[in-house]
Amino acid sequence: MLKFIFTLLVTMFAQWSFAFVQQELVPGGVALVPIQSNHNQPPLVYFNNNRVTVTRDPSNQQMWLAVVGIPLGQNAGQAKLQVVTGDDKSEISINIKEKAYRSENIQVQQKFVTPPAKVINRIQDEAMHLNRILSAWQMTNKTEFNLLKPVEGRVSSEFGVHRVLNGQPRSFHKGIDYAAPIGTPIRAAQHGVVVEVGDYYYTGNTVVIDHGQTFKTIYCHLNSIDINKGDIVAKGEHIGKVGKTGRASGPHLHFGVSLNNARISPELFFAAV
Ligand SMILES: [Zn+2]
Repeated sequence: MLKFIFTLLVTMFAQWSFAFVQQELVPGGVALVPIQSNHNQPPLVYFNNNRVTVTRDPSNQQMWLAVVGIPLGQNAGQAKLQVVTGDDKSEISINIKEKAYRSENIQVQQKFVTPPAKVINRIQDEAMHLNRILSAWQMTNKTEFNLLKPVEGRVSSEFGVHRVLNGQPRSFHKGIDYAAPIGTPIRAAQHGVVVEVGDYYYTGNTVVIDHGQTFKTIYCHLNSIDINKGDIVAKGEHIGKVGKTGRASGPHLHFGVSLNNARISPELFFAAV
């Protein structure tokens, strides 16, 4: 009887925690795609040549669920996932809708809009390095998707805003900005391994935590980083303090979420209550 209750509780918890991922079939959103397979091994799933995070469907043990990040630059319309189960290869179509993100004018130091020639190589190296980190695959038995808000503070710029810097159009905002005084503590949004700690030209003091498969969270502009690369952090553990390092017009935390190397809306992973 005890064992039965334990199993029931685990099952209920799995369903509850899984409910924290909300599907939104738009650029910057998440597609939840069921895949039928009798194999014990999870299917291999690819989107835009990036491997996709896959989990057991908590409501049906015969099914797997691909948790697909849809990049902000993805065109609306049909897109295809490549699926390999055992020796079988197939494709699944997903239908991506348009989403209109608002525009925002921001004033920053001119060196961050047209960087001086001496930092161009640094910027390119950092972009390549971050791309390698965010596309890396780490196998885990179970990926927990529900995230804590990493800092106390008001949202000063939401995800997906189309930015115009000093009058020049730039890319979409790939995270949420939380305005908070310098020194405000920042906590890990979910348990994981610290896979990057660095000082970047645009994002200042930056931390990346790997939560398994391709699911990662990104923390930028920190005043101080209080953990080290390779550390294992618990959900809610202190990792650093709010600052305004890099390209920042004031003290804030830029918080990003990445799935299959696509930056997606963190809001989809926060508890609804
Ligand atoms: Zn930001």
